[in-house]
Amino acid sequence: MIEFKNVEKYYGDFHALKDINLEVDAGETVVLIGPSGSGKSTLIRTINGLEAIQKGDLIVNDQDLADPDTDINRVRKNVGMVFQHFNLYENKTVIENIMLAPRLVLKRDEAENHKIAMELLEQVGLVDKAEMMPSTLSGGQKQRIAIARSLAMRPKALLFDEPTSALDPEMVNDVLKIMQEIAQNDAMTLMIVTHEMGFAKQVADRVIFMADGKILEDSPTQEFFENPKEPRAKQFLSQIM
Ligand code: ATP
Ligand code: MG
Repeated sequence: MIEFKNVEKYYGDFHALKDINLEVDAGETVVLIGPSGSGKSTLIRTINGLEAIQKGDLIVNDQDLADPDTDINRVRKNVGMVFQHFNLYENKTVIENIMLAPRLVLKRDEAENHKIAMELLEQVGLVDKAEMMPSTLSGGQKQRIAIARSLAMRPKALLFDEPTSALDPEMVNDVLKIMQEIAQNDAMTLMIVTHEMGFAKQVADRVIFMADGKILEDSPTQEFFENPKEPRAKQFLSQIM
C-alpha cells in the first residue's frame, strides 16, 4: 500500500529524511516514534504529498509520488490525514465539515452524504453536535470530528500526526478509543505518530523508531517493547515510559 525506496528529503540544505526504506501493507497499523526533530512529521507528510521528496521512489496505492505525471489529488482521495491541531473549517458547521470533501471530490449524492456523515457522528459519539460550529467544541470533540471527516472519504490509508498531543489529558482517551476501534474494525492502513506508548502496545502491528532523519528500528510491536535492538530506541523508551 505504501512503499519508500531509498527516499531522500531536503529542506534547502537540511537533510531531513535519509535513505528511507519502508513497506507498509494494506490493513497494517504502524506507529512511528522518535525524538523531536527526527523527521516523523516529515515522513508521514510525504505520503500524501504535503512534502515533496528529492530522491528515491515513494509508491502510494500504486502511484509513484516521485513521478511528475502522478496526479496528487488522486493519491489524496485515498489517503486521509489527521493533524495535531485538527484543522477544521471554522466557518462551517460540524456536519458541513464532514460532508464537504465527499460532495466536492467524490460527487457523493447529497442524501447519501448526509446519511454517512450522521453514521460517522454516531461512531465518534457526537451526533448531537451536527449543527454546531467547531468553535463551540472541546479539543477532544474537535479531534473526533476531524477523524470523522477523514473517514467520510472512505480512504484506503489514514495518517495521524500526534492526534492527541494538543489535548487536555482527560480528552486523550476518547480519541485513542476511536482510533483503536478504527484499527481493529476497518481494513484501513494506519500510520500514527504518537507518544502514547500504551496505545502503541495495544494497537500497533509494528513500531518504527526514527532519529536524525533515519529509520533506526522497524520491529513487530511486542519485540520492539520487550527487546529493542537499537541502543537509541532503548534510551528513548526509558525516557518516555
Ligand atoms: P516533533 O516530534 O517535534 O514533531 P518530528 O520528528 O516530527 O519532530 P519534523 O517536523 O519532521 O520532526 O522535522 C524534522 C527536521 O526537519 C527538524 O530538524 C525540523 O527543524 C526540520 N524541518 C521541518 N520542517 C521544516 C521546514 N518547513 N523547513 C525547514 N526545516 C524543516
Ligand atoms: Mg512532528
